[in-house]
Amino acid sequence: MAEKRDYYEVLGVKKDADQKEIKDTFRKLALKYHPDRNKEPDAEEKFKEIAEAYAVLSDHKKRKEYDNRGFEAVSGFSQEDLFGGINFDDIFKGSGFDFDLGGFGGGLFGSFFNRGGEYASRGADIRVEVYVPLKKIVTGGDEDIHISHLRACPECKGTGAAPGTEPRICKTCNGTGNMVNTRQEGNVAYQEIRTCPNCAGKGKFIDEPCQKCHGTGMIDEPETLTVKIPVGAEEGMVLRVPSHGRPSQSKEGKPGDLLVIVRTAYDERFKRAGADLWHSKSIELIDAVLGMEMEVPTMEGSVTVTVPQGTQPNSVLRLGGKGLPHFGETKRGDLYLRLHVHIPESLSQEERELYTRLRKLGRDK
Ligand SMILES: [Zn+2]
Ligand SMILES: [Zn+2]
Repeated sequence: MAEKRDYYEVLGVKKDADQKEIKDTFRKLALKYHPDRNKEPDAEEKFKEIAEAYAVLSDHKKRKEYDNRGFEAVSGFSQEDLFGGINFDDIFKGSGFDFDLGGFGGGLFGSFFNRGGEYASRGADIRVEVYVPLKKIVTGGDEDIHISHLRACPECKGTGAAPGTEPRICKTCNGTGNMVNTRQEGNVAYQEIRTCPNCAGKGKFIDEPCQKCHGTGMIDEPETLTVKIPVGAEEGMVLRVPSHGRPSQSKEGKPGDLLVIVRTAYDERFKRAGADLWHSKSIELIDAVLGMEMEVPTMEGSVTVTVPQGTQPNSVLRLGGKGLPHFGETKRGDLYLRLHVHIPESLSQEERELYTRLRKLGRDK
């Protein structure tokens, strides 16, 4: 591996750059070199170098250590130590940088965390959420997952220019998209990097855009996969589908994985709390006072429940074993029934007389 470059030099910022400047510069460079967008052979190496520099310089403590002791100060860090404290979603929010599914944090940095050094050869993981109805949590079963893969447009081979034409390289920046200004101060050379004003950082102009990809050089390729939802699948559970992630950037590399995150679909009748379910019902005041029998829905049809006399507002009845299956176990959670008591808003003449008599009875007790 090549000699490590000074982190400040990598980002092109001064030693005394503040956090905002470091963040802004990182965002700009990362968007430029991210391997999903930049197909230059060395883009991935560049991107990793940039990410590492940012990871150290954006952390007050790590930066100080680095200033004092150089690379030695960070040599013992694992990938997680380095990148764990960074909120990438926050950094790229609103940048228009959108990897259809999964997003930035999940995709590329997911593989940074999971595989560390292996990253170079393996594609990134894709994360996708699937909303599973309660019925399927009970029985388990198949769910279709729709994902889309960003691929280089076959029509223009990823250039974005109509077949038979070529993108025109920006003369102002020689196709780099950046303007670099080197300035000497004492014996330190500073580099100032600005986005090229002529091409707005694109490095090239496409006079005749490819029809198929509208000049972007990329197309979305949809894929439908079926995954098995296990009985009792928990909220947030991750199902891994090997090799259905992003393709590797290198020829020998394996693709990443598809990570399917289980979410519980909204249900009109039940709210999920782990393996338990909650259902609300409103009963009349008179039924709360005298008690009653009523029909209550469960996942397996309705059952008759006895509301005891003297039931208080917001009481909770428990129907044991009527919840969802616990994942990996045979037992089931419970169904909780919350009872709201409806107080009559208006009374007929006769009811009023009866309530008045009841009140009198109560006082005379
Ligand atoms: Zn195209
Ligand atoms: Zn330019």
